[in-house]
Amino acid sequence: MEDKICLGCLAENKKLRNNYCSKCIKELFNGKVPNPLNFDRVEFTKKRAELSPRMSISGVQDKISLAFEKKDLIPTAANGRYILKPITNGDGHIQNEKDIVANEHLSMLISKNIFKIPTAWCGLIRFSDGELAYITKRFDYDEETNLKYDQEDFAGIMGITPVTHGENYKYDACSYLDCAKMIKKYVASSVVSQEDFFKRIILNYLICNGDAHIKNFSLYSKVDSREYFLTPSYDLLNTRFHINEKYGDMAIDLLDDYTSTYEAYGYYTYDDFKTFAKYIDLPKIRFNKIMKFIEGSYLEVEDLIDKSFLSSEAKEFYKESYKDRMKRLRIK
Ligand SMILES: [Zn+2]
Repeated sequence: MEDKICLGCLAENKKLRNNYCSKCIKELFNGKVPNPLNFDRVEFTKKRAELSPRMSISGVQDKISLAFEKKDLIPTAANGRYILKPITNGDGHIQNEKDIVANEHLSMLISKNIFKIPTAWCGLIRFSDGELAYITKRFDYDEETNLKYDQEDFAGIMGITPVTHGENYKYDACSYLDCAKMIKKYVASSVVSQEDFFKRIILNYLICNGDAHIKNFSLYSKVDSREYFLTPSYDLLNTRFHINEKYGDMAIDLLDDYTSTYEAYGYYTYDDFKTFAKYIDLPKIRFNKIMKFIEGSYLEVEDLIDKSFLSSEAKEFYKESYKDRMKRLRIK
């Protein structure tokens, strides 16, 4: 069964080459058919320590840059066009770590293929021993000229640092509404971008991503352009399945004040997103369309969860937590 599923997009019954369909070969791997990685997770950990010795071992998810050498993706210190993240070595903070790779892959595909949100190209790839890792293509390089785009995350845009706002600065310093104001200020096509941003925030709520903090949203401008755009989405994950602490509903506050419904329920409901939509000037008709889409697309989400490489326990958790958030969004 697994051999018939594309490791990039999870599509079934496509003609696959080395586990990828032609679209994923074209878009994710720029037309190259990659070999399985020629190293395993133990060698990955050694390589990572060699290539970036200053990165701390615990806490953050380990990752490494990769570049193509013919058909092999090789760890590299500079000019990597891919980022590889294996399952995390359990360090006590993270539970169910064996599902983390499939979780990120699934979450990114829900964003890209169902919600049609611009999202980084990504897939799964096998280590030499067959274990799966998550791979994503960097989007901050121009593929023709190889020049790097000018990119800044929202912490940088707003001048928020540990010095100005303390060590929890990524979570505590502002609201999503403040981020939306920055989009209005800097993005030329801001009407389209506001709707895009709204979809991203509500998707993060649905998939229970408690880590969509201000460094996980960025603006970039392409080479020779002064126009800024939201970058494709990245680092999407149902964090509730992995973090064994009481986690907030969202990484940062939606609004600057709590609505009366929030005060009553203690979590975000329809009203909060409606208020958010109003503040960012999202037309009512667009808001209604998105809310309707969420209801109408659930079976597609469930189908993708079933096709994913999550364990059956994780699949169940993902569905239940997603449905729970949908229920909250029906509270008017
Ligand atoms: Zn594919």
